[in-house]
Amino acid sequence: MKDSLLVDRWHSIQSRIRQASLAAQRHANEVSLLAVSKFHSSDAIAALAEAGQLAFGENYVQELCTKAKTLAHLPIEWHFIGPLQSNKCRDIAPVATMIHSVDRLKLIPLLAQHRPAHLAPLQLLIQVNIDDEASKSGVKHFDEALELAKLIQTFPNLKLGGLMTIPKPQSDLSLQRQAFAQLRAWRDRLANLLGVNLPHLSMGMSDDLEAAIVEGATIVRIGTAIFGPRPLHSMTKEE
Ligand SMILES: *Cc1c(COP(=O)(O)O)cnc(C)c1O
Repeated sequence: MKDSLLVDRWHSIQSRIRQASLAAQRHANEVSLLAVSKFHSSDAIAALAEAGQLAFGENYVQELCTKAKTLAHLPIEWHFIGPLQSNKCRDIAPVATMIHSVDRLKLIPLLAQHRPAHLAPLQLLIQVNIDDEASKSGVKHFDEALELAKLIQTFPNLKLGGLMTIPKPQSDLSLQRQAFAQLRAWRDRLANLLGVNLPHLSMGMSDDLEAAIVEGATIVRIGTAIFGPRPLHSMTKEE
């Protein structure tokens, strides 16, 4: 894709976010756009970074780390949003700003162990399987989220930021909103029980960002609507 088309698409997503925020009576700067760049080239990422998009999301640890190295001269913040294996915690902990997909206790001490002391605390979101789908990762019960949150709080170099979900695709706006409202209710309950502020709700993609923003999303994750369809890629699983 030509860089000018890429930047045009990025501008139109930003204006969708602005309009949805206005409609929800929220400030547009309460909602940040995470550009999901999995399988897309470092050149495309660089072109967007030069236009001013600095937060990028990736699903594979290897791919994220390779791109981070190639683009180290740019002030990009990397978000990891894919399923995380425990043997990848060592590679991701020093490179990511935020991990959206924490869903198992085992990952937490490993991430803490490998987060270098000179860096800001690694921000973590707990992934919730809000529709209880067998095929999806994420915790299914509130008590699991509470247990994860309590363990994260014991490590000073980790920071619990909130929750993330990938709901079942729904075309009906009110059904879309239901899932997001449920995630917000979990976040509010968790923040209350722990007595902390949990600012982030990572929810909403190309087809449901309006519903997510009405229900309080602070990070929307958009791939295809910015970068176009993903090219076929050999790196479909971690070795
Ligand atoms: C790939 C992905 C996205 C972006 O999906 P698109 O359909 O390309 O917009 C968002 N969130 C997660 C967790 C993803 O894996």
